[in-house]
Amino acid sequence: MFLLFGEKYHANQVATGQFECPICLSETHYTHHRVQPKFTLFGIGIAKLEITSDYVICHQCNSCYDPQIIATPSEQHIAIDKAALIRTLCYILSGYGDTGQSRTRLIQLYKQVTNIDITNQDISTELAVINSGKAPTLPFLKQVALRLSPKAKQDIIVACYQFASGSCLMEHQDRVRINTIASSLDISLPEVEYLINHNA
Ligand SMILES: [Zn+2]
Repeated sequence: MFLLFGEKYHANQVATGQFECPICLSETHYTHHRVQPKFTLFGIGIAKLEITSDYVICHQCNSCYDPQIIATPSEQHIAIDKAALIRTLCYILSGYGDTGQSRTRLIQLYKQVTNIDITNQDISTELAVINSGKAPTLPFLKQVALRLSPKAKQDIIVACYQFASGSCLMEHQDRVRINTIASSLDISLPEVEYLINHNA
């Protein structure tokens, strides 16, 4: 008997509406996206697989949030894409050698991607978390990948590449580090190649 198994990806817009975006500091429109692949037999969905993507995105600033933000807007909610970007850039900085010049470049790059100003103190705070060993970066990225839009993930990879390759010739180990970051974010190596060749 011939059986045809497969997986289908369904990107669903669960909801749309208005919310108070913590980055825009105003009432903006949002969309709640969720992707849940289905296990298929002869092209017919027979079982739902684990959710691979579940986030709320602000239409104005493209920040990504935990969907809880809609139910509990009064709680403090962070823009997960912004938190993931500063963490990964600081992760690369920590592997590089933390110099004043690299910090300046990090601040410029973060501003370029997000239009948000960060300070030296913000970098020191992130580095303290990274160096404490209590919140390892790659498991952190695996955990937040669910809450990031495809564009947010791509922006992180391109920014990491620009940061690592900007001040000197990129060392092999930096490239390995970027591939590891990408894999934690569920981005395939061919996609990393494509992003770097087309954006960096
Ligand atoms: Zn916003």
